[in-house]
Amino acid sequence: MRVIYYVVHNSPTIQEQCMTLIVSIDQGRCIGAANCVHIAPTVFQLDDENIAYLVDPASVDDETLIDAARSCPTDAIYLDTEDGKPVYP
Ligand code: SF4
Repeated sequence: MRVIYYVVHNSPTIQEQCMTLIVSIDQGRCIGAANCVHIAPTVFQLDDENIAYLVDPASVDDETLIDAARSCPTDAIYLDTEDGKPVYP
């Protein structure tokens, strides 16, 4: 099951023009590897069951957010446009 949490994130670098990213985590896919936490601790944290949740996705730049999503071994982190088009994965 997907979209446990989501927060908008302004992203001027993914495309030429500024767009809004929706960040979400599929907590059912999260295995608690914590790669995302190491890359962006202000965005991702682990709960008591070692499952990632979102804290403040707007606190980092776009590259950091994309790096964190790419670092997830199970592709549990999703970046989408406002109208639902996938940006990552
Ligand atoms: S990198 Fe992926 S699997 Fe690891 S804690 Fe973050 S969301 Fe979960």
